[in-house]
Amino acid sequence: MRPLIGITTFVMQNPRKPFAAVSRNYERSVQRAGGTPLLLPISTDKDVLDDYISLIDGLLITGGEKDVNPQLYGENPIKELEMIFPERDECEMYLFEKALKKNIPILGICRGMQLMNVAAGGSLYQDIFSQLPDVLGHLPLKMPVDELYHQVNLEADSLVAEIFATTRMMVNSFHHQAVKEVADSFAITARSDDNIIEAIEHRSHAFVVGIQWHPEDLTARHPQFRKLFDAFIARAQKAK
Ligand code: MN
Repeated sequence: MRPLIGITTFVMQNPRKPFAAVSRNYERSVQRAGGTPLLLPISTDKDVLDDYISLIDGLLITGGEKDVNPQLYGENPIKELEMIFPERDECEMYLFEKALKKNIPILGICRGMQLMNVAAGGSLYQDIFSQLPDVLGHLPLKMPVDELYHQVNLEADSLVAEIFATTRMMVNSFHHQAVKEVADSFAITARSDDNIIEAIEHRSHAFVVGIQWHPEDLTARHPQFRKLFDAFIARAQKAK
């Protein structure tokens, strides 16, 4: 059996009823790399979440809807904070902690990276555009999701630099929040030219990686981004 990769989802409110949903680009990137995707609907029932963890060989904490609740890092919301959905935070923080304990690989993308940092004791900028006066563009909402947009600088001895085999590359970017204080258990492994944290890696686990951009949207058109999913699935295969 291929490694089973749990992919977190969000609630998409259609006019008549809520859907458990996530971009197909996550599951397609996982399948392309040799993993079997398993979508994980939001739950706050610990028995359900423990079942998820017992099934999966890797955890993909996705991006998408709703900002992480700032109360989780000790702040009240500023007016630029968008919507929060505390149930999703609670679900994903529990899954992150259990997956760490089980020592299975974890990939957190965009909001997923921010969530991991908060779960580990770090904090976020609630809105980089109002909180950092010199910030460059990170949220070109009119652009296609698979368009490369800004540069990132990767730390030379990091896992991401090893995976992508470079220390400087172009990425896409769709975020208005970012990691502020990185949790002690994580190292910063990529920054944009305006110093926004663009990747983090756990200091004591083999593959616990957070990426601020959206590699899942790039794998079809830019094959170099498949390397990240290949490395993640290979690690999940090894952890089986
Ligand atoms: Mn960015």
